[in-house]
Amino acid sequence: METKQILLDTLTFHGHKCWASTAGVRIGLAALQALGVERSGAKSLHAIIEIGDHHGAMCFGDGVQYTTGCTFGKGNIEKNNQGKLAVTLIDKANQKAVRVAYKPSLQKQIKESAFMQKRTAGIPPTQIPEAEQWELVNLIWDAPQDQIMTIGPVVDYPWSEPAEIVRFAVCDGCGELVAEPYLRVVNGKSLCRDCSGYAV
Ligand SMILES: [Zn+2]
Ligand SMILES: [Zn+2]
Repeated sequence: METKQILLDTLTFHGHKCWASTAGVRIGLAALQALGVERSGAKSLHAIIEIGDHHGAMCFGDGVQYTTGCTFGKGNIEKNNQGKLAVTLIDKANQKAVRVAYKPSLQKQIKESAFMQKRTAGIPPTQIPEAEQWELVNLIWDAPQDQIMTIGPVVDYPWSEPAEIVRFAVCDGCGELVAEPYLRVVNGKSLCRDCSGYAV
């Protein structure tokens, strides 16, 4: 399968092989397909991902970022902290969106797997035997689509966003590069927030 390379590339980026990042890949690809759009090279798409903080399976987020091109670096993804493995992908130009959610029908098998037994015992994923890592990746990768996800309807999604600030300047204090709106003028000097002592 041609898309298998996307999975391999994602796992390299992610750093280890796990079911949640694999679920993110499959759901990211399904969301693109549902909207009929390509991966967001610039910022044509925006994603609202429902993972939270400090919980298992947040790895889902890397699969979604890698496949959709909605990344925290570009700023076209946000978390809404529901603690769920789901994403709403928005096609900005056509003002359409789709929500795709992970369906937990394989959760018993995942929980009882050698990989998760070891994860629960506190063993880092990178120290779990390669074959046991692949077992769960393949479980999710090979599952029929409707077994592991619910694809919602494509709905209208009005979109507008502020213009991007492209101007930068060098702080007169520390000499570091700062986006212009973040500079503060103190005694005639342009300073970054840290150097200015201002809270905002
Ligand atoms: Zn992971
Ligand atoms: Zn500074």
